[in-house]
Amino acid sequence: MSQTIMMIGPTAVPERVLNAMVRPSISHRTPEYCAIQKELTDGMQAIFNTKNDVYMVTATSTGAMEATLQNLFSPGDEVVIPVTGTFSEQFATMADAFGMNTKRVRYELGEAADVDRVMSEVTPDTKGVFIVHNESATGVMHDLEAFGAALKDHNALFISDSVSAAGGIPTKMDDWGLDVLLTGSQKALMSPAGVSFISLSDKAWEQSISSTLPKYYFDLQQIRQFDELNQTPHTSAVYTVFAMQEAMRMIMEEGLDNVYRRHVDVHNKLLAGVKELGFSMFPKDEKRYSLTVNAIRAEGRAKQIVSELGKRGVVINGGLGALADTIIRVGTMGYVYEADVDRFLKALAEIA
Ligand SMILES: *Cc1c(COP(=O)(O)O)cnc(C)c1O
Repeated sequence: MSQTIMMIGPTAVPERVLNAMVRPSISHRTPEYCAIQKELTDGMQAIFNTKNDVYMVTATSTGAMEATLQNLFSPGDEVVIPVTGTFSEQFATMADAFGMNTKRVRYELGEAADVDRVMSEVTPDTKGVFIVHNESATGVMHDLEAFGAALKDHNALFISDSVSAAGGIPTKMDDWGLDVLLTGSQKALMSPAGVSFISLSDKAWEQSISSTLPKYYFDLQQIRQFDELNQTPHTSAVYTVFAMQEAMRMIMEEGLDNVYRRHVDVHNKLLAGVKELGFSMFPKDEKRYSLTVNAIRAEGRAKQIVSELGKRGVVINGGLGALADTIIRVGTMGYVYEADVDRFLKALAEIA
């Protein structure tokens, strides 16, 4: 049975991308390898819309998140983190683990963080404000531009995890005043897991000088030095890099504007379809619906729906933690087209 994969991640990997991995291995110190890494970091600069360099990290996005904390902060530093679900909480937990003074701004699940409440927690001592672009646990998308405008004249670094957005939703690192932006290979970038990308503003590099936390694998100074050679300090995830090269070529052939338009169209089609079947969305504010992570209410039957859809060849996700049997989450990111939405809706209609 052919499968329709609409997971939140890892996402569907196109056949072209799979085939790009069927080849002999190469050393990550060869010119051939370096040219591929350069193609990827250049492509990511276009996706992040930034003049800053973008570095490739051999780890999933959580590694890039850890790199952010280790390299830019010191124990006791005050950081403000709106908690809207599992992924923003994970960042806060990580900040706790590194001994930071973590100020959580808590929201109900399904709510988006608002600029006013977050800014009321930011003081002249705040060293960083972390906003998850898409809260993948609840399908809420944040308005990074609005947070960037509010943080413009503050000392605090403006940091965003755009893991389930970048490459599917426009990200404008420089225009939005972001100091750190990061993402991973296995979401909208339609590749296997294993590689993440991170970019830092000059202000972030400046703050890194005073960071006293121990660092080794994720030492961004060292990662930057090797990036000048288009290499990684340690063994690169060479096959994920082969895959990503092909995925990046597919994205650039389609054109970023077309990719973003397709994501809007596919999301809108899914939204209209599930409403017609009598479902409603989980996020409280329609303006904050994520274009890539669709969280749909299915109280008491989410697990059953996930399982029944699976039997029909449609692979989606349930909720996380407390939402396990409350919502289903359907990915419209990366390699997802209107025909996939049709198959999802047809299968959902059969069981709803
Ligand atoms: C998937 C996801 C992550 C997790 O990253 P890993 O690849 O598992 O390390 C982090 N943040 C968000 C918003 C995500 O959607």
